Amino acid sequence: ALPVIYAITPTYTRPVQKAELTRLSHAFRQVPRLHWIVVEDSTTNTELVARFLARCGVPYTHLHVFTPRRFKRTGMPRATEQRNAALTWLRQHRNRRDTGVVFFADDDNTYSLELFEEMRSTRGVSVWPVGFVGGRAYERPLVSGGKVVGWYTGWRPDRPFATDMAGFAVNLQVILANPRAQFKRRGSQPGMQESDFLKQITKVTELEPKAKNCTRVLVWHTRTEKPHLANEPKHRKDTVVIEV
Ligand code: UDP
Ligand code: MN
Repeated sequence: ALPVIYAITPTYTRPVQKAELTRLSHAFRQVPRLHWIVVEDSTTNTELVARFLARCGVPYTHLHVFTPRRFKRTGMPRATEQRNAALTWLRQHRNRRDTGVVFFADDDNTYSLELFEEMRSTRGVSVWPVGFVGGRAYERPLVSGGKVVGWYTGWRPDRPFATDMAGFAVNLQVILANPRAQFKRRGSQPGMQESDFLKQITKVTELEPKAKNCTRVLVWHTRTEKPHLANEPKHRKDTVVIEV
């Protein structure tokens, strides 16, 4: 059987949340043996997300953990606690006999179906280019003789792993074999989460380049514009309550 792809998506309540999750589910529905781990940044599993997941057609696990308010300032890394909650769930519910690949899929990015074909064969940690990050059209691992030898990036080229969250996947057994590996808040600067995490579980020389030796962009770090809601009435004017 194909290894299961565990797509970990942190998500939070805002006007576009259901639209984002809908878009994501349309990609994930088309991927064989994908298990979606959705982790809400909230004090409970919300009704909106629970109802959405139940109908979306993707096998899923629904979790939640609320980010403490002191970590919600601009310039601070986002979704640290949610990604760690998903890693904890995997360590508690999967074992040595399970084959899988773990991937961090933010809810606003854009994913090519080919990306999932590429990451499926990840034996340790695999990497590939990501569009619209690092202040450039794309960032990518530089590959020579089938090995990663550096990074093409416009931002902090001194990062040991100069990749975005969407630019790598990890074999499930690597997650289980490194039970203490997690995303860090303490001592982690924004944009360093990926590097801080990857250095706990691998070495640059061991990375597996995907997407034609890292020459194809199959995922884009898109960001969704906030909808303009200036004309929303203060109190409900419609005759019915409608979920958006
Ligand atoms: N996110 C979250 N709580 C927050 C902010 C963001 O769970 O307070 C999630 C968000 O839904 C997304 C991921 O964390 O899946 C990354 O956030 P965002 O896309 O805003 O970050 P950016 O792409 O701008 O770095
Ligand atoms: Mn984003």
